[in-house]
Amino acid sequence: MTEQNISNLSREDRTFDPPADLAANANVTADVYDTAAADRPAFWGEQAERLDWGTPFTEVLDWSNPPFAKWFVGGTLNAAYNCVDRHVEAGHGDRVALHFVGEPEGDTRDITYAQLKDEVSRAANAFEELGVEAGDRVAIYLPMIPEAVIAMLACARIGAPHTVVFGGFSSDALASRVTDCGAKLIVTADGGFRRGAASALKPAVDEALVKIDNENTAIVENVLVVRRTGQDVAFDSSIDSWWHEVVDEASEIHEPQMFDSEHPLYVMYTSGTTGSPKGILHTTGGYLVQSAWTFWAVFDHKPTDVYWCTADVGWVTGHSYIVYGPLANGATQVLYEGTPDTPHRGRWWEIIETYKVSLFYTAPTAIRTCMKWGEEIPAKHDLSSLRILGSVGESINPEAYVWYRENIGGGTTPIVDTWWQTETGAHMISPLPGVTSGKPGSAMTAIPGIAAEVVDDAGHPVENGEGGYLVITEPWPSMLRTIWGDDDRYRQTYWSRWPQYYFAGDGARKDADGAIWLLGRVDDVMNVSGHRLSTTEIESALVSHPKVAEAAVVGATDDTTGQAVVAFVILRESAGSGDQGDEIVQELRAHVGKEIGPIAKPRTIMVVPELPKTRSGKIMRRLLRDVAENREVGNTTTLADAGVMDLITSGMKTAK
Ligand code: ATP
Ligand code: MG
Repeated sequence: MTEQNISNLSREDRTFDPPADLAANANVTADVYDTAAADRPAFWGEQAERLDWGTPFTEVLDWSNPPFAKWFVGGTLNAAYNCVDRHVEAGHGDRVALHFVGEPEGDTRDITYAQLKDEVSRAANAFEELGVEAGDRVAIYLPMIPEAVIAMLACARIGAPHTVVFGGFSSDALASRVTDCGAKLIVTADGGFRRGAASALKPAVDEALVKIDNENTAIVENVLVVRRTGQDVAFDSSIDSWWHEVVDEASEIHEPQMFDSEHPLYVMYTSGTTGSPKGILHTTGGYLVQSAWTFWAVFDHKPTDVYWCTADVGWVTGHSYIVYGPLANGATQVLYEGTPDTPHRGRWWEIIETYKVSLFYTAPTAIRTCMKWGEEIPAKHDLSSLRILGSVGESINPEAYVWYRENIGGGTTPIVDTWWQTETGAHMISPLPGVTSGKPGSAMTAIPGIAAEVVDDAGHPVENGEGGYLVITEPWPSMLRTIWGDDDRYRQTYWSRWPQYYFAGDGARKDADGAIWLLGRVDDVMNVSGHRLSTTEIESALVSHPKVAEAAVVGATDDTTGQAVVAFVILRESAGSGDQGDEIVQELRAHVGKEIGPIAKPRTIMVVPELPKTRSGKIMRRLLRDVAENREVGNTTTLADAGVMDLITSGMKTAK
């Protein structure tokens, strides 16, 4: 192992085999790994047959001009037709596509595939009446309501790439995205329900239009407003129109046009965890093939399943695993508008019980929050319908994995820890629930058809048991095609460190069996007295202490060791709210020393009420590094809750 590689410190050795009945009936069996690896294009060509094509493709992959890929060359298709119409044509029009659950209790609405087809067609006609043509961009700034899904599919239907902006973002974030991709139409709502109250959205659109000086630049021609909360909004009839007037009155007959496989489907901005967000471009054919296949394979989806992904549609997970993947498979799913604790902390588990959810997909941050609240909350609900649990967004700490499996999964459900990125479009590294024996904290191996490797500085694969950089060594169908409007930045960001490999920006190690463990962002790796330490491993050691619910670790400049480990922890509520001073800090330092080794002991541990997170629940360590090094806190525009940094910095001041 070279000096530069990340130290490998974890001692996790638990494994969980797939339940026998799940393994016996699984959609994907173990042999598929080898078949796919023997001829990747042939494998993906076969998976493409699960979609309906207008014109068949003539070539699976054109990689003659790397890193610019073309998949399913010559093929044409319509993504919305594949997600909606074809299920109705196959006789499943009465099947529920969306069980919508609004945040106010009792505010529910079931939408069948036949109804979804009518709604999407109406919206497509309305968008066209508003002057949107194939190739024009549409920004969608909505709460988690059915119109968000309908608007995305209506865009896909008319070939207008959408860019969904998280409804919790400010007018600044909206303005910069609308400007970057040049959106002609913004679809928004008066507001949405959040934490028990109506929260306005439309004013942020009005502010964004001023910020982009729309009067002079005329980027945005129309704003279409869904009436969700009924709250008062400013209305300028020269640009604003109501969804219920324009869309509801449009015809439900709309002929889907076929688009080239490489026609742009959407631009999604990354979370901004490590820097400023990048506009990631996804195109139609390859993206839909891989999101559809992975949904079917990784969640072992059967027509009888009820699926629920708690992500927001403003995140790539919402695109691939609420909209395109599930709907391409004709799945029935829950769509929930609100927060997990409104009006009470059992809301999620109540929804699972009511709808008999069988496949559940959420983020480690949510699991750790539930750990903090205590296991007696889910214990009040019948969660026996669940058969597979998923995790996405960060490494799941082994303790959180075991808690999730025991308290939500009844001690039997496999957990699929899915590693992927906005850029990869769909799952890349994950267990398969009927095949893989899961190890808590590991995303295990690349799924069939994907070639991932962990390499050292020189780009050579590391041995089992060693750490390095995660790369993807072969192109894949749902890969990003470029950064919107910036091919150079695309090349530079992902394909320059080792020109033949896609560099994901994450550190990883292979264990003795070759399973992959994600170690955190390469930018976040700490160098303590010459040892390169992983944030993930130290955080997991802290979370394995019974009093800790969440932890974030950063490296801060230190005169003697180069960098020192600084930890921020949130305690479990069962740890009591009494004096949490020096005693707990000493206890946690000793615990990390015992779990990992003295080198990993944090120099400083701060007990905090909250951590800075992105909208998708990822910890923004760069902001904590600013705090640890007493710097002005950097760009916070993609924080889910901007007030958190004030809480933490004021806590730091009182602690001093
Ligand atoms: P930016 O690129 O702007 O900093 P981001 O990387 O947070 O933002 P996303 O595309 O939403 O934006 O996140 C992808 C990243 O999330 C991955 O690179 C990885 O660091 C992390 N991640 C996602 N799933 C997992 C997982 N299962 N295990 C470990 N890390 C994961
Ligand atoms: Mg990233």
